[in-house]
Amino acid sequence: MTPSTDRNDELFERARRLIPGGVNSPVRAFRAVGGTPRFVQRAQGPYFWDAAGQRYIDYIGSWGPMILGHGHPAVLEAVQRAATEGFSFGAPTEREIELAEEIVQHLPAVEMVRLVSSGTEAAMSTIRLARGATGRSKIVKFEGCYHGHADALLVKAGSGLATFGHPTSAGVPAEVVQHTLVLEYNNVAQLEEAFATQGGEIACIVIEAIAGNMNFVRASVPFMKRCRELCTQHGALLVFDEVMTGFRVALGGAASVYAREIPGFRPDLTVLGKVIGGGMPLAAFGGPRALMEQLAPLGPVYQAGTLSGNPVATACGLATLKEIAKPNFFHALAARTRSLVDGLTAAARDAGVPFAADCEGGMFGFFLLPELPQNYGQVMKSDSPRFGRFFHALLDRGVYIAPALYEAGFVSSAHTDADIAATVEAAREAFVALGGA
Ligand SMILES: *Cc1c(COP(=O)(O)O)cnc(C)c1O
Repeated sequence: MTPSTDRNDELFERARRLIPGGVNSPVRAFRAVGGTPRFVQRAQGPYFWDAAGQRYIDYIGSWGPMILGHGHPAVLEAVQRAATEGFSFGAPTEREIELAEEIVQHLPAVEMVRLVSSGTEAAMSTIRLARGATGRSKIVKFEGCYHGHADALLVKAGSGLATFGHPTSAGVPAEVVQHTLVLEYNNVAQLEEAFATQGGEIACIVIEAIAGNMNFVRASVPFMKRCRELCTQHGALLVFDEVMTGFRVALGGAASVYAREIPGFRPDLTVLGKVIGGGMPLAAFGGPRALMEQLAPLGPVYQAGTLSGNPVATACGLATLKEIAKPNFFHALAARTRSLVDGLTAAARDAGVPFAADCEGGMFGFFLLPELPQNYGQVMKSDSPRFGRFFHALLDRGVYIAPALYEAGFVSSAHTDADIAATVEAAREAFVALGGA
């Protein structure tokens, strides 16, 4: 792989002595692509600079939150002001209400929200609520969707159709995932079979409607329609994990994208994170009043958090949401993202490299495959070493995309036409270096 700069190497070595793998979240370690992770020194707008002073155009944006780019003046000011007023109180604040109001205003499926500190926590609590509210244990998840690292959700499909899953991590007892049914994404027949045989025991379907943790794969409209119908018919809840897509693919999230195609469409519960914190540890979950009032202190479903609704994080999230709610924000962001995807597609075609890409709002994905995959199995047909070469060719040219082929990409409102053009130019060279199929 590409030799990396000395300062990053030094830091990586130091980090590995103290932090497992040198990182605090596995994908950052570059294991899928090889080479030395870049240690970020600072960031501004669409760029960050690594420990060796090298600048990169950033298409990760902290895995989605930095939708305004880094260091947006309005957000910075809100955070600075909040920090002077106090870091954490363990008591309610007005800003939590303001953030709740801002969230509820844009999401028709959400009447009430509970704020937490991470997407993992939000998804875990949502599943507990779904089980508590329905009095059922089983949950349906789809292979390739990620809902954080709560035990019951670290599970992959077993052999055969609609079987209960196997843990994907050591330390998760098989008994803990025995209620998690893992199905193939976009497979209507399998979903119907699961509900035909076990519909009365299923508490919820949890789904990334536009999946961003197997690169970028959309649930088809007929599949989503069946998810909704089967849940309604069998008294199960449809849980939209919008930690990545919420306030990212559209102001109304993925739910609004499907509501365009399916009249009256609404999920029952919604999980949020990433953008709603604007880069601070903040997440949330929400839904109709009758369901949300099942939570403690009103109802029997326990849920709590020392730092939940943190005043600095809520200031950051609120300032971010206020910016993206401005007229035309998503229209412009979607156009910018589309121009990137179109530019990459044209560059790949010119180089004779098989390539398929998709985007929605400020989120995109691409595959070094002739067609867009529809499920995890198809995503995994991608050639990982080839992706690694492409990744490093871009990195060498100052473009930072996700260091693994099963991750989505993110454009911010700070990315300029010139940034997009420079990225496409870098990709053009990278595709040539990669060679045809
Ligand atoms: C990032 C993500 C999570 C987990 O959020 P964390 O804040 O990393 O715990 C859950 N679900 C989806 C869809 C995500 O993209």
